[in-house]
Amino acid sequence: MSTNAFKVEHRYLELPDSFYTRVKPTPLSEPKIVCFNHALAAQLGFHVQDEQDWAGIGAGAELLEGMDPVAMKYTGHQFGVYNPELGDGRGLLLWETVAPDGTRWDWHLKGAGTTPYSRFGDGRAVLRSSIREYLCSEAMHGLGIPTTRALFIISAKDPVRRESIETAAALMRVAQSHIRFGHFEFAAHHEGPDVLKTLLEHVITLHFPHLISLPEEQRHARWFEEVVERTARMIADWQAVGFCHGVMNSDNMSIIGDTFDYGPYAFLDDFDAGYICNHTDQGGRYAYNRQPQIGFANCQYLANALLPIMDEDAVRDGLSRYEHAYNQRFLSNMRGKLGLEETEESDLNLIMDTFSMLHEHRVDYTHFFRGISNLHLHGNAPVRDLFVDRSVADEWLERYEARLQKETRAHDEREHAMRQANPKYILRNYLAQQVILEAQNGDYTPMKELLKVLENPFDEQPDFEHYAATPPDWGKHLNISCSS
Ligand code: AMP
Ligand code: MG
Repeated sequence: MSTNAFKVEHRYLELPDSFYTRVKPTPLSEPKIVCFNHALAAQLGFHVQDEQDWAGIGAGAELLEGMDPVAMKYTGHQFGVYNPELGDGRGLLLWETVAPDGTRWDWHLKGAGTTPYSRFGDGRAVLRSSIREYLCSEAMHGLGIPTTRALFIISAKDPVRRESIETAAALMRVAQSHIRFGHFEFAAHHEGPDVLKTLLEHVITLHFPHLISLPEEQRHARWFEEVVERTARMIADWQAVGFCHGVMNSDNMSIIGDTFDYGPYAFLDDFDAGYICNHTDQGGRYAYNRQPQIGFANCQYLANALLPIMDEDAVRDGLSRYEHAYNQRFLSNMRGKLGLEETEESDLNLIMDTFSMLHEHRVDYTHFFRGISNLHLHGNAPVRDLFVDRSVADEWLERYEARLQKETRAHDEREHAMRQANPKYILRNYLAQQVILEAQNGDYTPMKELLKVLENPFDEQPDFEHYAATPPDWGKHLNISCSS
């Protein structure tokens, strides 16, 4: 296979060797390509004639020249408790490539077998969870939210034991970086200030090059502010589309602000502010409405890790950026969703009251905002029909129409812009569940069709209207656990 279309590097190996262990993948048998992301491959700088050529690499049976697989070492806070034993327990960083446009991509094979950090795990991933991660990373990308990406999935014959016996699979995940908050926690709490500083400079050199030329103190301070701000904005974007991550442990927080590690995530169907998508999260630590706070808590863990090499005031200043960055992005997202261009003092009240109403009446979050993006096109009925008590909708619509009087934009122009902010198609859990069942029976076409729809979530797609439907009874509040 020719890979001369991109440059190969492995800058991660420049870090001190406590950050990784070289591990060869444990091959899976009779691998088949489930899905291959050709558009992404083109972005990385290569084209694929025969997808099946990549099956052996996905199965861990072959390596391309230049691949030097390592399991990364990191630690982190899981559900608020520090765990020093973490690291890539089933994923391997194979190499980094630099695309023709200069973008750097890490290739990470998830499900490649055990590593020194596997603890009690088998090092494997199942088809169900690999498809969930593939679907969601591409759905998030379609929505314009920073995320790791999915290049391809293989499935194999080997049985994997979870609650029942399942099909083994592996996902080739790519991202500009796989470095997590937890890498910094590992360096700070186990390796000492020199190693910590090396990690920090590595991250700045590769991912924050605009800061390189600043004097050290300023460089570090600006960098931390940026990480905090990116994290806050990412979470404000999640809230706006009704996304629940489910496992916001600090080892699942990307240092460059990508949505990272898709497990028991969910997009809200009917709006429930306290929705807990992770069946194992009994206390609701990672409930939808707690995500902004938890994002801050994770920045605090990162802040603590930086104290050995950064001035306490600089760290505190960096942390203080969170609230402002979050509020600003959240407000701008919600103003976009409501189509408000002018600024009125009462706008925040309108936004909060809208959330309260959606919560109290359990209205479908996506349909509501898409509905109000078409009020002048389709009338009030589609929005009213989302409410059991139509008078609640009427009262809200009256207030909203009054607020729109203050706008200067033409109705059709405003509604056009709103349709670019309020997706019609989101990755509802029942949709994922349906295509997973088909894939488990060997049919990957439904998954590919769903992916196609999610590529353009803001467009009307008349032939695929049914993908916008609310869940049938069996598909409401599906129990998704961490077991993947
Ligand atoms: P996650 O909840 O997927 O973010 O995983 C948390 C930690 O458990 C990470 O260090 C993973 O590498 C590890 N892990 C998850 N599943 C497995 C598995 N099947 N085998 C080995 N390690 C795993
Ligand atoms: Mg993880």
